[in-house]
Amino acid sequence: MKIPYVNLVAQHRPIKDELLAAIGSVIDRGRFILGDEVAEFENRFAELCGTRFAVGLNSGTDALILALKALSVGPGEEVITVPNSFVATSSSINLLGARPVFVDVKEDYNLDPDLLVKAITPRTKAIIPVHLTGRPAAMDAILEVARAHRLHVIEDAAQAVTAEYQGKRVGSFGVVGCFSLHPLKTLNSCGDGGILTTDDPGLAEEFKILRNLGLKTRDNCVVWSGNSRLDTLQASILLVKLQYLEAWTEKRRAHARFYQEHLQGLHQVQMPQDKPWERAVYHTFVIQADDRDELRSYLAQQGIGTAIHYPIPIHLQGAARSLPHALGDFPVTERQSRRILSLPVYPELGEKELNYIVSSIRSFYER
Ligand SMILES: *Cc1c(COP(=O)(O)O)cnc(C)c1O
Repeated sequence: MKIPYVNLVAQHRPIKDELLAAIGSVIDRGRFILGDEVAEFENRFAELCGTRFAVGLNSGTDALILALKALSVGPGEEVITVPNSFVATSSSINLLGARPVFVDVKEDYNLDPDLLVKAITPRTKAIIPVHLTGRPAAMDAILEVARAHRLHVIEDAAQAVTAEYQGKRVGSFGVVGCFSLHPLKTLNSCGDGGILTTDDPGLAEEFKILRNLGLKTRDNCVVWSGNSRLDTLQASILLVKLQYLEAWTEKRRAHARFYQEHLQGLHQVQMPQDKPWERAVYHTFVIQADDRDELRSYLAQQGIGTAIHYPIPIHLQGAARSLPHALGDFPVTERQSRRILSLPVYPELGEKELNYIVSSIRSFYER
């Protein structure tokens, strides 16, 4: 059996006609830049997240950059985040001339709120919790610290569309939520895409100006900015996929439960656990495994693709060499980086494939 780690071909096969019709309709009308589908997708996405506004962008990375820019984060300032995210969380902070200050994570891969206060200095401007793997970060504790210290909270919700914390959806906790619509995210365009959520009408207006070269009207530029617009074609594709998102997400969650049940009792493998107050959407299903690299090679020999999110913590990346960090600074992240393994969890997997993955993992440890 061959089970790739991701399978976008399988995702698109059953909806290809619908997608082609949507693309065809955009081509027939010729409004490729900020056409009707962009506004319609923004409205639907805001509704999905329980926020007043959403602003479509070209990527999740630009969502983070524009969020920081709109909140005037700049040189000499610090932004607290985690060292175990995709690099975009930290690169966006650096690109604005500010400095990322890392806080280690807990066993659920998310920011440890008990370490937050110690990381705050007079230069701290914002906190960017990441809802890694599609599991919400501990938003009540994070918001409490942020309020007490008057810090902005920007959610990096790139992996977590429709994840919930205490019944409330991610992207609606902070002053702004940043989402990616990259092909590998749970709500995905056929190319790059991103979106911002906020309840603040002033910020929403500013995001629309910032994504469009600082143009307030066609001819009036009020601030220097770049081009971060979401394509109409991608918005039309996303509107089709939005109809399937809930069913796809429930499949991911069911696959996660399957792994949790069928790998139970295997002491070499630690699995993610759901808390009653969370809805995790399982962008990734990340186990921690003894002999991780050997397990990964063994699974590859059995035809099973896996991935590691992420093998090199951000503070140990070459790009972070100017930051005052060394091996040992964030022990939980570092230990996890040597043990984590992402198993296939996409909706199109069937029970036969899941059984095969589980029995292959068991046979590796029983060899
Ligand atoms: C994917 C991702 C991003 C960046 O999104 P792009 O759309 O690829 O630019 C940012 N943060 C996290 C946590 C991500 O997973």
